[in-house]
Amino acid sequence: MAHTHLAACHCGNLSARYDCTAAPAVMTLRACGCTFCRKHNARTTSDPEGRAEIVVRDPAALTRYRFGQRTADFLVCGNCGVYLGALFTDKDGAAYTTLNANAFANVQALPDAAESVHYDKESPGEKNARRRARWTPANLRIAGAD
Ligand SMILES: [Zn+2]
Repeated sequence: MAHTHLAACHCGNLSARYDCTAAPAVMTLRACGCTFCRKHNARTTSDPEGRAEIVVRDPAALTRYRFGQRTADFLVCGNCGVYLGALFTDKDGAAYTTLNANAFANVQALPDAAESVHYDKESPGEKNARRRARWTPANLRIAGAD
């Protein structure tokens, strides 16, 4: 994989290593129109050819926020409040993520512009199909638990 990015919340309880194909300057960022993403001003990115590992130090300080159709966990640090990304776990246990690029260590190297996207008319099945096709294959592990 050509490019590795490190992401973390403000206090470091949540972090991620993201390997993707696009160079930072041409990374595609999305500004989802849902009210959760707008309130965080999130800019998210994913790569179905990539790979992400999300690491949680203290699982007691991980909020898995769910809303709307409740089909994905929005990972928010319960300590510092940063939104790291969303995690969708499929019926077969495979997990996919879209990460909040604002939490990347190299955010300055990323494009400023984010494409506006709106998913509010999707059914739960359509949402899950989109996540399987476009989000990054991922796993979440608790630090020190393995
Ligand atoms: Zn934090």
